[in-house]
Amino acid sequence: MSISHLARAIVESPTLRLNEEARLLRERGEPVIHLGIGEPKNKAPISAILGAAGKLLAGDVKYTPTDGLPSLKKAILRYTEESYDRVLAPENVIVSEGAKQSLFNILYTICNPQDEVIVLAPYWVSYPEIVKMVQAVPVIVTPEDGSFVPQFSEIERAASSSTKAIILNSPNNPSGAVFPEELVAKIVAFCEKKGIWLISDDIYHKLVFDGKVAVPAWRHTSKDVESSRVIVVNGVSKIYGMTGFRIGWVAANRELVRIMTNVQAQTTSCVATICQAAAEGALTGLQSYVESLRLTIQNNRDVLMQEIRTFTGVKLVKPEGTFYALPDLRAYRMGSVEMSNLLLKRAMVVTVPGKEFGMEGHLRLSISGSVKDITEGIARMKWALDPSSPNEIYIGERKLLRDWL
Ligand code: PMP
Repeated sequence: MSISHLARAIVESPTLRLNEEARLLRERGEPVIHLGIGEPKNKAPISAILGAAGKLLAGDVKYTPTDGLPSLKKAILRYTEESYDRVLAPENVIVSEGAKQSLFNILYTICNPQDEVIVLAPYWVSYPEIVKMVQAVPVIVTPEDGSFVPQFSEIERAASSSTKAIILNSPNNPSGAVFPEELVAKIVAFCEKKGIWLISDDIYHKLVFDGKVAVPAWRHTSKDVESSRVIVVNGVSKIYGMTGFRIGWVAANRELVRIMTNVQAQTTSCVATICQAAAEGALTGLQSYVESLRLTIQNNRDVLMQEIRTFTGVKLVKPEGTFYALPDLRAYRMGSVEMSNLLLKRAMVVTVPGKEFGMEGHLRLSISGSVKDITEGIARMKWALDPSSPNEIYIGERKLLRDWL
């Protein structure tokens, strides 16, 4: 079959594939525990539901302007002012089909073929793939000290005359790390000086634990939005648990937003009206939803830390935010893909191989589900991997015997 090199080079999204595998197993009645995808169990905020329902009941579902419903953009401007202390104009914002499309639009708009984009490992699985989709080249920076946060000198060394952008994601998927403020400040200053775009993916910015704050990149530049190199990506998927509504946005200078709007006009025209109304509802409704989600996840994180303590050989850096933890399981001397497959097949636990995030030997665990999922999931993992744990376990009604260690 004749398929383009470009399309062939794109790998399947491992998180979405695992999600589908888990769904099929559940459909067959298997007692699967999903520590794969980052998606809270909470229902969407009622204000979001009412927003969407209002549009539906009125039968008012038509194309919207390509860059978003004016009333949603107004809500985003207010959110931006409250969260970032930045007053923007509507022309600085474009609404897209999830933060994923926002990232695609940005990279398509700023990159020429062979331009380089610096991606910091561990990274969200889609960054390198989207970079490749626009014919640019991902340049991966992996911290030499084995930590989840790079040294500034490592980023500086990776930059070349072809560097178009750096992608920064703090709080970080998959590690849960929050980058030190000093490092963020240095990266911002470097980008402003060198004329490199800094794509700040702030999708988890309110999901930070223990009273810590993820100070956004924007706070570290004195430049106004029109002259700054900082581009901000945000959305409702994570902090409001509205993954299926597919709403993300970009805040950046007007020229970039204008060109991104042209790009989006020729791909999706605009985002579904009902979903935009839901996002507006979430942004303008009661914000206690976000705090209660944050506290739930923080508690889940504490439960995870407790459970992992008794897991021989596993090292885990305490996540400071997001829905994820990235334990180091290298002591078990198995590739992360093989390990993730074994856990799914033998223990019915979905995990994502660290290899997909540029961190072989690790597994990403999502803590966005219930406490029960976490405790039972870790118990099953221990049984499947740790020879010092009892070799019998009950999974659902079935008593299983471990015979592979
Ligand atoms: N950025 C990061 C770091 C993410 O983890 C995700 C979702 N997993 C996205 C962007 C995409 O979010 P959305 O669902 O809004 O497309």
